[in-house]
Amino acid sequence: MTRVRDHGGGVRSLRVPIPDNPLGHTLVHVVDTDRGPVLVDTGWDDPGSWDALSDGLAACGTSVAELHGVVVTHHHPDHHGLSGRVREASGAWIAMHAADTAVVRRTRETRPGRWYTYMEAKLAAAGAPDDHLAPLRSAGPRTRLPGLSPALPDREIVPGDLLPLAGRRLRAIWTPGHTPGHVCLHLEEEHPAGLAGNGRLFSGDHLLPGITPHIGLYEDPDDATVTDPLGDYLDSLERIGRLAPAEVLPAHQHAFTDAPARVRELLDHHEERLSGLHALLSAPLTPWQLAVRMEWNRPWEQIPHASRNIAVSEAEAHLRRLVKQGRAEPVPGSDPVTYRAV
Ligand SMILES: [Zn+2]
Ligand SMILES: [Zn+2]
Repeated sequence: MTRVRDHGGGVRSLRVPIPDNPLGHTLVHVVDTDRGPVLVDTGWDDPGSWDALSDGLAACGTSVAELHGVVVTHHHPDHHGLSGRVREASGAWIAMHAADTAVVRRTRETRPGRWYTYMEAKLAAAGAPDDHLAPLRSAGPRTRLPGLSPALPDREIVPGDLLPLAGRRLRAIWTPGHTPGHVCLHLEEEHPAGLAGNGRLFSGDHLLPGITPHIGLYEDPDDATVTDPLGDYLDSLERIGRLAPAEVLPAHQHAFTDAPARVRELLDHHEERLSGLHALLSAPLTPWQLAVRMEWNRPWEQIPHASRNIAVSEAEAHLRRLVKQGRAEPVPGSDPVTYRAV
């Protein structure tokens, strides 16, 4: 299987495997600049993934040591995992949006015990039953969270700004939703094959050809702000649709054209899902009860513990949106809080 694809105009993609994950791989993009190659994302922190990245760069006629910089679309480990190792081997800078850098900083500083206590309280408030909470309680203050010492970025990606890439025009577009600091990178140069449209877009996890990214709450033990990640995501999607890039280079699956059509599909999908949830709320439900009734890729009984937490977070993000739209409301005096359709 060939790991490198040449997209033309000094842009290539490398398939960097994500171990034990149905997504399969991250597409790491290599952008040539006058000061050396720059990566968009790096891949999962694993020896096999590191080898794939190194081999892929060799196939491009370069090496990790020659890298000039790393632009990270968002903080998730399949995108940012190898950034620290790349910086060590090359001296490359690492750039990220401030909102995701804040998540990285917090992840590095939060003690596991604090994190489990926060998760337990949050899930209890969402109506999770005791048998779901028990493992979090027994995890205890000394349980280590796996693989969570992400590299602290040393540069900030400022929305709307051109990145400092010699000889290229790469502009940052803030697309919060999947994470609070997710960015897409717009390569403003004409498409190398002359495809109609507005340059090319590195879309990270924001816009993918065949899957919808997870939209949950922005979990932060230090911040009680009531955010609306799904609202952020839908706004960000419309922004990308209006940009109308000639080609999208996402971080998973494959490159594709007609971004506005894909944006429309995703907007319709979320509207349908919100309407379905609105119908379920004809009887008051806690976020947990709503998650149990929502459609997932397998029956609720087969969803493992950690994935149920993600499902509840997604249910809560949808509830926030419905409340903001005036289509649902919390039932006064309910504890744990239930929501009903308006
Ligand atoms: Zn992600
Ligand atoms: Zn991803």
